[in-house]
Amino acid sequence: MLIDLEGIDGSGKGTQSQRLCERLRGAGYSTALVSFPRYSETLFGQAVGEFLNGQYGALEDVHPFLVSLLFAGDRFESRQYLLDQLARHQVVVLDRYVPSNVAHQASKLEGTERSNLISRILQIEFKIYDMPRPDWVLFLDLPVATAQQLIARKAARQYTDRAADIQEADGAYLERVRAVYEELAATEPQWRRIRCCQGAELRSVEAISEEIWQQVVSVLPA
Ligand code: ADP
Repeated sequence: MLIDLEGIDGSGKGTQSQRLCERLRGAGYSTALVSFPRYSETLFGQAVGEFLNGQYGALEDVHPFLVSLLFAGDRFESRQYLLDQLARHQVVVLDRYVPSNVAHQASKLEGTERSNLISRILQIEFKIYDMPRPDWVLFLDLPVATAQQLIARKAARQYTDRAADIQEADGAYLERVRAVYEELAATEPQWRRIRCCQGAELRSVEAISEEIWQQVVSVLPA
């Protein structure tokens, strides 16, 4: 089974995907965690890091279709690795996957340009590159302002010496990405939305982890 955790930058995907793996292992399921982009493991992942570091220009300087190819290339390069993990383990948890490419790049376009780009990304990743489809997508939803406060708490990253990369630093951009995620969560049958705030209050890591676990338990094979 392939379970993907999605959400805007700083929504807790890294934290919750690790917790989910720990709980799965505790319940006796053999589990692996795969995080995208794989900045240090693939050539395209390295290029994604360069893009997020602003080396190809500002966020709006590079056409989203071209950007999508970097993220898709990182997955294509990781395909055998992911298939090996799936063959070896009962559950593979993904910290970002194809839906991140869809949400981030589609957020930069509107109307038919947006729907055409979404179709292309899905065609490239799932058909041409033949990446496995996720069984479940859990969307960690929280307001952009809260996510940006959490981004500020992140430890230094290898791919950027900035405190926030060019996506994380742009609140208006993250709002648009969140809107695409919301649309997908409301329309795609295998998506579940996890509310990370109760009113204005950020819920605890434990409370969010418990809700994710309840969702996952209900779909796990016996
Ligand atoms: P993402 O992988 O979605 O970018 P992270 O899991 O790295 O997000 O979380 C960003 C930061 O916020 C980390 O420092 C993490 O420890 C912290 N964090 C995540 N979820 C919560 C939460 N519910 N309450 C408090 N801090 C959190």
